[in-house]
Amino acid sequence: MDFQYFMPVKIVCGRDCVQKNAQLWAGMGKKCLIVTGKSSAKNGSLADVCGALSANGQAWQIYDDIPQNPTVACVREGGRLARSFGADFIAAIGGGSPMDAAKAIAMLARQEDGGDIFAYKSTGDVLPMVHIPTTAGTGSEVTPYAILTNDEKQTKTSISAPAFFPKIAFLDGKYMRCLPQKTTVYTAIDAMSHAMEGMLSVRAGALSDALAKAALSVLHKETGALAAGRYTNEDRDALLYAATLAGMVIANTGTSPVHSMGYSLTYFHGAPHGRANGLLLPEFFAVCEEKSPARAKEILSAAGYASHKELAAALAPLLGEREAISRDTLRTYAKKASVNKNIKNCSVFFGEEDLFRVLVRSVGKAE
Ligand code: NAP
Ligand code: FE
Repeated sequence: MDFQYFMPVKIVCGRDCVQKNAQLWAGMGKKCLIVTGKSSAKNGSLADVCGALSANGQAWQIYDDIPQNPTVACVREGGRLARSFGADFIAAIGGGSPMDAAKAIAMLARQEDGGDIFAYKSTGDVLPMVHIPTTAGTGSEVTPYAILTNDEKQTKTSISAPAFFPKIAFLDGKYMRCLPQKTTVYTAIDAMSHAMEGMLSVRAGALSDALAKAALSVLHKETGALAAGRYTNEDRDALLYAATLAGMVIANTGTSPVHSMGYSLTYFHGAPHGRANGLLLPEFFAVCEEKSPARAKEILSAAGYASHKELAAALAPLLGEREAISRDTLRTYAKKASVNKNIKNCSVFFGEEDLFRVLVRSVGKAE
């Protein structure tokens, strides 16, 4: 059994874990830049972080202007703030958007040179980070990836660096009490997608498979709650746990052509990231069933489905009305996705025609 697996993040999970473990923050530094969006002030997470910092006598400054699908401009501004404040560590609070932005800010705080951020050698100095996810989807709290909107290439681009692994991730499902239903559903689909795509990676191994199957099993048990839009505290905790497990998968395996194609649906049509993956996942697995039937069956059954058709039937009501995009436009998205690095990362080969077929069957306009 040959595999490699790396996970340097200390994961602290449990109710009120941010306040109960204030001493863990003490070793992070003296001055913290808090990187977040607007919801953390309402769901209690920002107050808990400030409380922990205050208990340790640590100073902080809040940067709460991170938009969804973070931009280069917002992380440059965050880097400037971190430098002017003299931050020696960063706390990221929120969904994938603030968590990813925080990683780029942690890099720019130490090595801004005004050059192309996507060409940065991110092996250099990066401020240490604490992450507190308030959505259950991206797993960014345990991954070395920061995904930013790349306007020059009209897509989203991932910057990857071992130094982007946070030092600590605090998981507390209580922050998701007021998470809107659509965000809850789309982020859960993102987590499912990570686990399923990770199993198809050329870098998948026994340990990442075990984590992926555990994540898929937890998510499958949450199908009823997701469909009904009614969640107990245990449901929220379970969704968050599954998302982190799935993040631990992609931290080592990377994602697949589903994410490559999904970036165009987000960039050009505003589809939330998890929704974009969910729209594409069943038809992607239809191709996998043809090209790699045994592995496709293993992954689908780990998720609780006998075939891609069952997966499609389960996702359809959660996704609602689909985007309808012309074939000509989808051809350009297939071309774009075909040069994404995730194509080589997938154990099933997806050429431009395969990608086009998945896109047309998933979101093609009837013509
Ligand atoms: P998000 O863009 O971070 O957040 C979606 C929305 O939910 C925002 O309006 C946000 O508001 C709100 N929100 C967050 N937590 C909330 C809460 N507890 N209660 C109420 N509202 C809340 O969505 P996401 O799906 O978590 O992250 C998507 C991003 O992550 C994409 O950019 C994607 O490319 C990236 N991603 C990264 C990785 C990785 O490994 N790094 C993996 C997959 C995806 P505020 O932000 O204003 O608070
Ligand atoms: Fe994702």
